[in-house]
Amino acid sequence: MKILSVTPECYPLVKTGGLADVAGALPAALAGEGIAVETLLPGYPAVLAALGRGAAFHDWPDLMGGPARLLRGTAAGLDLIVLDAPHLYDRPGNPYLGPDGQDWPDNALRFAALARAAADLAQGKAGPAPGAVHAHDWQAALVPAYLHYDGLPAPPVVLTVHNLAFQGRFPAYMLGPLGLPATAYALDGLEYYGDIGFLKGGLLFADRITTVSPTYAQEITTAADGMGLDGLLRGRGAALSGILNGIDTDVWNPAADASLPAPFDAADPAPRARNTQALRRRMGLAAGERPLFAVVSRLTGQKGMDLLLAALPRLLAEGGDLALLGAGDAALEAGFAAAAAANPGRIACTIGYDEGLAHLLQAGSDALLVPSRFEPCGLTQLCALRYGSVPVVARVGGLADTVIDANEAALAAGVATGVVFAGGSQAALEQAIARAVALHGDRPVWERLRRNGMAQDVSWAAPARRYAALFRQLEGGDALGDG
Ligand code: ADP
Repeated sequence: MKILSVTPECYPLVKTGGLADVAGALPAALAGEGIAVETLLPGYPAVLAALGRGAAFHDWPDLMGGPARLLRGTAAGLDLIVLDAPHLYDRPGNPYLGPDGQDWPDNALRFAALARAAADLAQGKAGPAPGAVHAHDWQAALVPAYLHYDGLPAPPVVLTVHNLAFQGRFPAYMLGPLGLPATAYALDGLEYYGDIGFLKGGLLFADRITTVSPTYAQEITTAADGMGLDGLLRGRGAALSGILNGIDTDVWNPAADASLPAPFDAADPAPRARNTQALRRRMGLAAGERPLFAVVSRLTGQKGMDLLLAALPRLLAEGGDLALLGAGDAALEAGFAAAAAANPGRIACTIGYDEGLAHLLQAGSDALLVPSRFEPCGLTQLCALRYGSVPVVARVGGLADTVIDANEAALAAGVATGVVFAGGSQAALEQAIARAVALHGDRPVWERLRRNGMAQDVSWAAPARRYAALFRQLEGGDALGDG
């Protein structure tokens, strides 16, 4: 079976978050299940550069305001179709934001073009049609909407929601420029609180909706976490399911990781100590045995980083140190930088994006803090499990599905892998930090947590089987079956 994956980002070519990791890792994982994936990506400069000389096989004289063509080729082990549309994508920097940090003003056109190209591919207008389409997030969510309004024969579409907070909401007058009929401005169409919603349309017309953890799939059907779409999602409950993400266990392999001074594995985690020393040195933290907490995160309210900033005095009072890597909200960046300046040797921050340092943080820290207010899946806690950093996470979304709290029962049963606490509360975060410090003080218990974590299967093997089963079910014509 052949499927077309439609995504605005894909590791290692272009990445702003976990979506890129998923889109980059699933093709190889699905290949093991007998499913071949071609990935359709916008022709950002970095993608075109990686593609080299792709073969042009389809063109449009005018796709959302300028000429465009499709190139086919391979890069980074991925089979790619690249939408080369210079008027939309030939720009430096972030895929979504201009140099002023604001959304590109033509983002509606930029991602509608991606979906339009995917719909044409799905309808067989540019060669044999795929057996199914896998659309990722709002940027690809118009694929099922175009297919619906075109009314031509087309394969089924699975829409995966990586984060419901990003919805692609634009003024209603964009319908015409996007090539959609005026009738699409309707409750049972793209209309969304007086605007049009790309994600809303995708959720309405996709054959199946998946999100990236079972708990998040349930949370988004509630008013508290549904971000205005919970009613629609409840209505589509039979088509909605959660499939946990995995991580690329070749990229994240502590036994063969070029970013680490001391490789290690579950059988012999002892060399971790040298990574800890290297991490402390590199980030300017004092040497010592104090529990070292790490953060690798976007610095945003979603990630609970304001709660952590407020909890730093308690973290220090409990005897912990903090090493943070992240970028995001200016106020949070400044807050953590100030905390580091005020607490030299105890708190260190690197503001920015650094893959190598992210690996060293996972391999050298004692615990990874993830105090998210909501978390569709979360990848950093999976990396932490694999790298022997004990995750300390809020009980939300995929965090709740992947970490087992070290409560008395779980400790007695020998299954605990971390510390899990109520999300959205500074007091609960502070208590969790105190609990982690206490657990860290009991060496055998801490080593057991670490060993249990490292024994978890966080690879794509199981998730790929679930996606493959879903695609095959759809291929078999079961478009409305129970998710
Ligand atoms: P989200 O997609 O919401 O940002 P995830 O936990 O799902 O969060 O995925 C984040 C991914 O980005 C992980 O692979 C993590 O290691 C990586 N990451 C986040 N911030 C940084 C950073 N500052 N430097 C390097 N990698 C980062």
